[in-house]
Amino acid sequence: MKVAVVTGAAGFLGSHLVDKLLASDYRVIGIDNLITGNLANLEHLKHDSKFDLIIQDVTEYLNIPGKVDIVFHFASPASPIDYMELPIQTLKVGSLGTYRTLGMAKGKNSAFCLASTSECYGDPLVHPQSEDYWGNVNPIGPRGVYDEAKRFAEALTMAYHRVHKIPTYIVRIFNTFGPRMRLRDGRVVPAFISQALEGKPLTVFGNGSQTRSFCYVSDLIDGVYALAHSDYHEPINLGNPKEMTILEFAKMICKLTGVAENIIFEPLPVDDPKQRKPDISRAMRILGWKPCVDLEEGLKITIRWFKERLKK
Ligand code: NAD
Ligand code: UDP
Repeated sequence: MKVAVVTGAAGFLGSHLVDKLLASDYRVIGIDNLITGNLANLEHLKHDSKFDLIIQDVTEYLNIPGKVDIVFHFASPASPIDYMELPIQTLKVGSLGTYRTLGMAKGKNSAFCLASTSECYGDPLVHPQSEDYWGNVNPIGPRGVYDEAKRFAEALTMAYHRVHKIPTYIVRIFNTFGPRMRLRDGRVVPAFISQALEGKPLTVFGNGSQTRSFCYVSDLIDGVYALAHSDYHEPINLGNPKEMTILEFAKMICKLTGVAENIIFEPLPVDDPKQRKPDISRAMRILGWKPCVDLEEGLKITIRWFKERLKK
């Protein structure tokens, strides 16, 4: 049986990736220090003999017994609120954490998959963003701690690929949503849904003309799995190219939750990207992948999930 290590296993994407790997007959070892994660995301695996969780900071020395076939490095604060509150931890997990996990992959003779991000493109001057765009990042701004950590992580991953010949994969993830996001992690999907369900006004930052493109979690995880089983080693964008403004998105959440439009405007965070939309032609060509869950359908599932959580 193949063995996968997943860092950030108790987080939103990490826990869905663990489920996918277990369903695909992997044995999985999760590593998480719970800094932004939640054990409830793994509660259903408590009695699964194919899954083990190690509570550890991945910036510390990692000693995993036995063989490992692939390491997925998904640990990192990911919401702007989280990484701005945890700037040093974010820089450390992207730099030292990537160094440790690449070192583990090298020691175990295993493959390595890095969860990178559309934030590598910063506030992009090219639209939509394709992988050959080098980005427009403010290295010393408040978001720089996340963007530069991930850019360093990509550079280190490519160096290990070139020098040590490790099969590495880099996935540039665009805004992804779904069940198991933290209700109060500050990202726009949980923020708007919880505000609507609690009868509060939806807080649109700026005038709401900035754009994002939202991908449902199962599509994203299918793409990560396909990439990690390919022989393609350059970065690849995964996301849903359906782009909308944040104001349009707020109105959509009001409609889907059945509440009257109640929107207030708050200041735009520093360096908030003005537009974002993935060019996914590379993923379509190399992996035969494209998202198939319609935005409204994914949001309805997510709204149902948040409703259950708010009842508790
Ligand atoms: P999340 O906050 O839900 O999960 C991150 C997990 O990493 C948490 O469980 C946290 O406790 C763990 N972690 C953080 N630092 C750690 C450390 N030093 N040692 C051990 N564990 C640590 O975030 P997410 O949305 O699931 O994001 C997962 C990955 O995907 C991140 O690397 C993120 O940068 C990337 N990503 C996510 C999105 C998205 O839209 N969700 C977009 C782009 C990139
Ligand atoms: N946003 C908003 N209201 C909120 C939270 C976020 O208008 O309560 C905006 C934010 O300014 C950004 C977009 O929604 O333009 C997406 O924000 P998120 O934090 O989800 O992710 P980002 O794409 O910025 O990393």
